Amino acid sequence: MPGPGAPDDAGARRAIRPVVCYPPEGLPAVDMAALRAARRIARKAGRILVPPREGRCFRVPAGHFFRISCPEGTQVGDLDLWNGADLSEHFHSGKTRALHGTHLSTGARLWSAFPHLRPLATITEDTLAWYGTDAHGCRVHDVIGTRCDPYTNRLLAGADYHRCCHSNLTRALAAETGLPLPEAERHIHDVLNVFMCTGFSPEGRYIMKASPARAGDHIEFFAEIDLLGALSACPGGDCASEHSSDAATCHPLLVEIFAPAARPAGWRTPPVNAYDRSHGA
Ligand SMILES: [Zn+2]
Repeated sequence: MPGPGAPDDAGARRAIRPVVCYPPEGLPAVDMAALRAARRIARKAGRILVPPREGRCFRVPAGHFFRISCPEGTQVGDLDLWNGADLSEHFHSGKTRALHGTHLSTGARLWSAFPHLRPLATITEDTLAWYGTDAHGCRVHDVIGTRCDPYTNRLLAGADYHRCCHSNLTRALAAETGLPLPEAERHIHDVLNVFMCTGFSPEGRYIMKASPARAGDHIEFFAEIDLLGALSACPGGDCASEHSSDAATCHPLLVEIFAPAARPAGWRTPPVNAYDRSHGA
């Protein structure tokens, strides 16, 4: 039987086979061997420690690498990225999800928003790549969740909490750029949830569980253009239960920047998207 309200051909409609929206083989190829060769001869050029329940900005020149790690213990981080010279070009979590899937690992790229739509960074190493998909359908490093924020917390809990990732990122960007807080806030966008372990319940609800990251775990990126980054050490800590309070145990996050001795062979900063922007007018 088709079920209440369903048409007679409900089964046939549901049986239609899906296709991948954006087959990955259509994306520009990444020469991972060239990136790894450049990384092997890179030297450390800077470090920024992000305290628990705080945010910090960092800058990475094009052609450099940056590593985000948990130096002391499990900690989820919320990452925003911009063109270092133009805040209007920022990371586009939604299109990155459409192109690479709900969770990112080695080889995936972080794409910028329209009209730029070019890779801002490429993931070159992920010590949690072994995790794969667990029995709950959860994976690590998602581009599903938007970031914890004080507005949703106010909506659901009826209280003001000021250390959500949205606020941490806002304060960090204001401090870095000198913008007033309300202007800086407008540039905060959907994040890459570094080290967060998430998925969807069978009913389609966004679910999270304790991050499998341990002290020393890291994820590393190659900067395709000059980047400004902002990273928040989420007040949820390992995000096992809640993420908008001072209840969870939190640790710092470390950002390290590595300067290569030579550019990766054949690499150059990707141009902005070539669409003519006439929109048919
Ligand atoms: Zn958060």
